[in-house]
Amino acid sequence: MAYDRDNVFAKILRGELKCDKVYEDEHALAFRDINPLAPVHVLVIPKGEFVSMDDFSTNASPEQIAGLFRAVGEVARRLGLDGSGYRFLANTGAHGHQEVAHFHVHVFGGAPLGRMLSKIEAKT
Ligand code: AMP
Repeated sequence: MAYDRDNVFAKILRGELKCDKVYEDEHALAFRDINPLAPVHVLVIPKGEFVSMDDFSTNASPEQIAGLFRAVGEVARRLGLDGSGYRFLANTGAHGHQEVAHFHVHVFGGAPLGRMLSKIEAKT
């Protein structure tokens, strides 16, 4: 899948759309999700043009990969989640229910989050 430069996170990176920024460095930007699913719900995105986890893990440089993961940890610490705990996840592709085609990591926290998923059976 080719990267679409008109996706909403590309527009945020270019400053064409506003975001509620919580952190930025040379590799990553983090901002609050517009539709939060937990008391803290932040998105951490790489500054490079990557569609998904598949694209990122295949094509990003070691520095870009390290930068994104360090940013996730830094965001959690800055928001005070490191003591109480938190969850991070990246929806990928159709089965992952990825809606925005710019790779992003969700960071959730601020309350007990329950189990990861309800059990899902394979479709036959
Ligand atoms: P995903 O299903 O993993 O692709 O999640 C996309 C997330 O982006 C959703 O949680 C949306 O609420 C969030 N989102 C979409 N547009 C914006 C925006 N302009 N600012 C902040 N979050 C957004």
